[in-house]
Amino acid sequence: MIDSYSDFRSALLLWYDQNQRMLPWRTKPSLYNTVVSEFMLQQTQIKTALPYFERWLIRFPDFHSLAEAETESVLKYWEGLGYYNRARNLHKLAQCLVDADAIPDTPDAWKALPGIGDYTAAAISSIAQNHPSAVVDGNVVRVLARLTNDDTNFSSNAQAVKQFTVLANQLLDSKRPGDANQAMMELGATLCTKGQPQCQCCPLKTFCLGFQAGKPEGLPAITRAKRTQVQENRAFIIREQRLLLYKIPSDAKRLKDHYELPSLEALGLTKDSKHLKKLTSKKRGISNQVITETVYELDTALNPIEEKEPFYWIDLKSIDRILLSGPHKRWIRDLLMLL
Ligand code: SF4
Repeated sequence: MIDSYSDFRSALLLWYDQNQRMLPWRTKPSLYNTVVSEFMLQQTQIKTALPYFERWLIRFPDFHSLAEAETESVLKYWEGLGYYNRARNLHKLAQCLVDADAIPDTPDAWKALPGIGDYTAAAISSIAQNHPSAVVDGNVVRVLARLTNDDTNFSSNAQAVKQFTVLANQLLDSKRPGDANQAMMELGATLCTKGQPQCQCCPLKTFCLGFQAGKPEGLPAITRAKRTQVQENRAFIIREQRLLLYKIPSDAKRLKDHYELPSLEALGLTKDSKHLKKLTSKKRGISNQVITETVYELDTALNPIEEKEPFYWIDLKSIDRILLSGPHKRWIRDLLMLL
């Protein structure tokens, strides 16, 4: 397949040096910037994370300022990015590092810290500390499956990652491991894309068996678990310039202490009630679920709902200051504009 690893590495790094996207964590490299960007980029696309990253660095410019911040403030600056455990873990990580005698300098040492698994440990130690460990995400799996024309039917992404990690480490340039890792991910994100790989512009085409076989698009073959459909019904109730919201308990697994529109069920209502009028319906995906949420307005004929934990009447002027889950924040903003 690849006769000369050295030629492969040179071709990849030359392409990266000339074509990499100018991203703030690349133009101003530091351990802190790498750690923050790697936490934000778990489950999130670069274009979504960019404005959050810029705002974050202004408010929390280093590990010390982050370690000293209140959790509520940390979550507020993460609001809308989702997967809030990343923010909580990043906060705890900063506190651990500030208290530590030494900064970890191997992937295994990083993995002992909150929120850091194989992928993030390899990314931080290779990019910020020049440690030769390959980073393998979905983009890298795609490039390697095509390079090797490997049509194995993987039962999950994790299985494919495990298989290709061996090859990724063999191909890694040990003199510039951080750049080599970013180059593979960049190539997968920009040229070796899912639908239409741009093979004619690809620096790896002379090494690529998938390209030579003429049909790289179908690789890798990964059979994903079927997504389950979930239906949620929500209430949008405004009285005297205040919006009724539900506060998620502090011991919840997800979105603890966030506010959201209350479910009809929590209010003892069903969607068939004659007091409800449908306002909007939204679809979103989380892990292996597709959630359809329908929002209803409640007419004023019903008895007023008392403010009592976990339901709170929030002044419309204060909505921007409370912690809302990302989708609910967008829906509330859109619905308020219709009033
Ligand atoms: S030649 Fe095509 S399929 Fe092969 S790595 Fe490059 S873009 Fe991907």
